[in-house]
Amino acid sequence: MKRNNFHTHVFRCGHAVGDEERMVQAAIENGLVELGFSCHIPMPRYRRHLLKGTIEERSINNIPSFIRKLILGGPNMRMPYSQRHIHLKEVQRVKEKYKDEIQIFQGFEAEYFEDYQDYYQELLDSNTVEYLILGHHFDRSSINERYYGRAILEDKDVLKYASQVVQALETNLYSYVCHPDLFMIGKRTWSPACQEATTQICKKAKELSIPLELNSGGIRRGLREIEGVVNYPYPYDEFWKIASEIGNDVVLGIDAHFPNNFKEENYQNLELFAKRFSLHVIENFTFRKGKSNK
Ligand SMILES: [Zn+2]
Ligand SMILES: [Zn+2]
Repeated sequence: MKRNNFHTHVFRCGHAVGDEERMVQAAIENGLVELGFSCHIPMPRYRRHLLKGTIEERSINNIPSFIRKLILGGPNMRMPYSQRHIHLKEVQRVKEKYKDEIQIFQGFEAEYFEDYQDYYQELLDSNTVEYLILGHHFDRSSINERYYGRAILEDKDVLKYASQVVQALETNLYSYVCHPDLFMIGKRTWSPACQEATTQICKKAKELSIPLELNSGGIRRGLREIEGVVNYPYPYDEFWKIASEIGNDVVLGIDAHFPNNFKEENYQNLELFAKRFSLHVIENFTFRKGKSNK
């Protein structure tokens, strides 16, 4: 199977290492033929977004990080808006420079935030980005209390996550779903609500032919044993049993945060997992353009 990756971060999101050029070089060194940049999307009016979320939630669990985000407009969760221009320019530059060795694409990993749907559409319409992928990390606002991977996630939160993912898929803005089983980081034990949420996500993705991503980032976190059940935080076995039954298309995603994440071993681990559940892995997927190609 050819090696590619459409889920790549750079240092600009505040929690990855490596600039655009370093990531491209590492991808080439590891035999990748296609590389898509999809750092955590820089958002305009980010301070307003954070403040609105905080007022709704009435709590902040990490004050220094919150203040840092307010001042810098992003870190350490997403690329500050002020970095957007230089990032886009850098990707264009390396795209040209390495064009004989690797094909490079510009994307972003974005949540489903209703307030930003027009912004996402505009990014696609103006060809600023070629694709967006859905990484639905937060419920309505990028504050820690709303993180879907937070400890002690309840059944109702899991169901809310699923309904938001389903709504996101219907917008046609997102070309695939990153780590659709992210909620298992915090949920930890499988429940009927997880079954229900998974079924909703997989059915909708199948109906709209939108692939789900098997994410290497969760495998790199290692196996953990909870109440006698051994699993990665994600990909989580029970989720992918359902995806297999429903017959979802599956994309392998490295979720690269470091140049060495492209190593062959990470692809092989994903392939092994996919094989265990007889998943239908595809090498490429359609770039969706929201309303413009519905
Ligand atoms: Zn993500
Ligand atoms: Zn990511």
